[in-house]
Amino acid sequence: MKRLVILGAGESGCGAAILGKKQGYDVFVSDMGQIKPVYKALLEQHGITYEEGRHTEEKILNATEVVKSPGIPAASPMVEKLTAQGTPVISEIEFAARYTNAKMICITGSNGKTTTTSLLFDILVRAGLNVGLAGNIGNSLALQVAQTERDYYVIELSSFQLDNMYDFKADIAILMNITPDHLDRYDFCFQNYVDAKFRITRNQTGKDAFIYWSEDPVINKQLMKLCPKATLYPFGSEKNHNVAYIDGENFILEATNAIALSMPANDLSLRGKHNQLNSMAAGLAAQILHIKNDVIRESLMQFRGVDHRLQYVATVRGVRFVNDSKATNVNSCWYALESMNTPTVLILGGKDKGNDYTEIDELVKEKCHTLVYMGLHNEKLHEHFDGMGLRVIDTDNIKDAVRKAYEAARDGDTVLLSPCCASFDLFKSYEDRGEQFMQEVKAL
Ligand code: ADP
Repeated sequence: MKRLVILGAGESGCGAAILGKKQGYDVFVSDMGQIKPVYKALLEQHGITYEEGRHTEEKILNATEVVKSPGIPAASPMVEKLTAQGTPVISEIEFAARYTNAKMICITGSNGKTTTTSLLFDILVRAGLNVGLAGNIGNSLALQVAQTERDYYVIELSSFQLDNMYDFKADIAILMNITPDHLDRYDFCFQNYVDAKFRITRNQTGKDAFIYWSEDPVINKQLMKLCPKATLYPFGSEKNHNVAYIDGENFILEATNAIALSMPANDLSLRGKHNQLNSMAAGLAAQILHIKNDVIRESLMQFRGVDHRLQYVATVRGVRFVNDSKATNVNSCWYALESMNTPTVLILGGKDKGNDYTEIDELVKEKCHTLVYMGLHNEKLHEHFDGMGLRVIDTDNIKDAVRKAYEAARDGDTVLLSPCCASFDLFKSYEDRGEQFMQEVKAL
């Protein structure tokens, strides 16, 4: 019997274990940390053996194949041992895709993945397709494949998932953009991260589609090197060779063989330039899948957006509060600032992932009068921004950050939480950071 070992018992690991068991593997799950009660219950319910708080070598190195959680780095000791002895280490998506014939629509990029994925899912649901939502959102692909028959999956893929994908093929691949992120996991080499993102085009043929932002210099440079075989669908803010673009006041989608969709850009429910691009990517994928323009238009006009992404919280005595906790890198903060149309108090800081803040210098000067640093280590922020002449406030907890930001704000200003950093120094996750921010705002 083939032995499938799963490293990491989170959403993807448990899903892979359940699917593996269903497919007749001898399954063993190992997690270095504590497994959440809900996942333990799930494993027990399916009669799957597991361990927590350790990795027992003799139970792992005898695997035929290993599914690794995206959270575990390739440089972790157990993964290095497995790789050295030639045991295949794959991602949960790679494993799950073997057991379904559904069409795969995959979205990656440094920013905009969740928004684009959720929007496309919304369009396909409105169109009545039998579609699942997977990847970093909701239930794992593996669990869904084990439990449901779908015709389509819309899958959000991080570079960590792509790292361990080999035979997987996306019928439609979407690459939103590539800016430096997670460099700590890529030997601080940007090209390694770019290569990981481009794995989304791996195994694609001329019958498959590759949708990408044509104004991204990093993507363009890599395209010249790689020449993917898929049919290309570039989008961008101007027409040029793009099949989705803004023409004056209008938002246009014209994937090949489809009747063009034209609508006032102002009718898009998601605001900001970055969201126009997200709407283009999702709209093109829908057109390629022959969804009627009326359905696409309706969704683009009515989609409610995703929590923690430029989410309006409340207005307190004239001060607007916006929760962009998901801005865990500098580029996403750039887009958040770009969309601000009032004077802004920016709350930023957290776990720095090797950030270069220069990218937001101009917008910070143009839009912000106060910066509130919120983190256990604010030294790098002080070093970078203090010389700009803006008001600077140092905090190490959300309560102080919100109160001090509020005190610094004037009637008509916006307080924007768009941290540029991961949340793990002070919070469980970016969701936790966003929730606590909203609670503190409501307590003002
Ligand atoms: P991801 O899933 O890739 O992290 P999200 O859709 O969750 O992306 O958006 C995260 C943040 O990134 C948003 O709050 C917004 O500030 C920014 N953002 C969203 N879309 C884009 C885009 N196309 N380009 C740049 N930044 C974006």
